Amino acid sequence: MAPDGQTLAPNVYDAESIPEAARAEIDRLLISGDLFRYTAPSDAPVTLLEQEFADLMGARYALAVSSCSAALFLSLKALDLPRGARVPIPAFTFAAVPSSVVHADCVPVLVEVGANYRVDMEDFAAKLPGADAVMISHMRGHTSDMDAIMALCDAAGIPVIEDAAHSLGTEWHGRKIGTIGKVGCFSFQSYKLVNAGEGGIMITDDPEIAARAIIMSGAYEENWKKHPGLSNSCAHWQNKLPLYNLRMQNLSAAVIRPQLPLVAERVEKGRANHDRVAERLNGCAWLHVPDPLGPEERAPDSIQFNLAGDWSDAEALAFQKAAKARGVSVQVFGLSEGNARAYWNWQFLGDVPELPQTRAMLMRACDVRLPTRLAEAELDFISGAIVAAAEDVKG
Ligand SMILES: *Cc1c(COP(=O)(O)O)cnc(C)c1O
Repeated sequence: MAPDGQTLAPNVYDAESIPEAARAEIDRLLISGDLFRYTAPSDAPVTLLEQEFADLMGARYALAVSSCSAALFLSLKALDLPRGARVPIPAFTFAAVPSSVVHADCVPVLVEVGANYRVDMEDFAAKLPGADAVMISHMRGHTSDMDAIMALCDAAGIPVIEDAAHSLGTEWHGRKIGTIGKVGCFSFQSYKLVNAGEGGIMITDDPEIAARAIIMSGAYEENWKKHPGLSNSCAHWQNKLPLYNLRMQNLSAAVIRPQLPLVAERVEKGRANHDRVAERLNGCAWLHVPDPLGPEERAPDSIQFNLAGDWSDAEALAFQKAAKARGVSVQVFGLSEGNARAYWNWQFLGDVPELPQTRAMLMRACDVRLPTRLAEAELDFISGAIVAAAEDVKG
């Protein structure tokens, strides 16, 4: 609070601080120098993290790696797809997702996303024939119709990888996101719910996928023996698969482990924060927060909303500027130069198809960070500034 009682514009770009409990463990690791996950005979911090994360998610196997992108890449590699395999992905996602597909020598097939940020099921069904695997990005935690997606993919025998990078804590019919497909991948990059700077983890119940991913993540020689319960599969694959060396190191695990018990609290806070801001925004005729699909319980640390009614590009840009002048940074996905979430900027794919639905959504969809630590007064400052900015332009 400023001295005059007015709330200052909250800083939404600072990451979460790391729990005090991480310090002693980091100190211990610095003194011993034991940073490599495979040095200790057992109970290395990375191994303990894998056990704890698997328990938290109710998954059989977890493999901690250097990033969620690495986890997505290894998931595709672990499925043993042919070179040039076609992998449908939502066209509304972060550039790292099509990049991971290209990295795995596969071809991303961009699927239309509707005004509610979710996969357009008609376009998905049309693009599924000929696919070898599907990668569903739960972008910003928004969950597409997983019942329909799984029914179509199961019927066609096509494996589903869930990009749950930003969806830790989200549930679908009460089931944890990331446990619905064959593999689920999560990020510990600083802007996600658990902050380790960088890091990722994949979970699966399939021992063959787990074993292959473990070897390829860099469990060279017999280091795979430090992953419990997979000896037969790993012994089979040793020396038959490349070692991509995408391992996590112990310091990252030491930063992540004390945050896992905080996830439930952050999820609850994130939901309350989001709903408080959404209610204010939906009270303004020019703004609209799309409803989630029925079975979804999201774990948001940001809010997305659409400019509702008739807005020109110039008005949308004026709105962005007006919000900024009021202390709140709003990004219209498709109107911020070079945005990595706008599919037309993925020039590394070569010719990107035109996707009118997704484009229309991106040109009017707005993104605002809402870190779970924000207090109610800060949330009200943010929603107040956004509504006032809309009225500045349209009022
Ligand atoms: C952050 C993010 C990624 C990439 O995660 P990294 O750990 O930075 O590689 C992928 N997909 C989505 C939806 C993300 O939000």
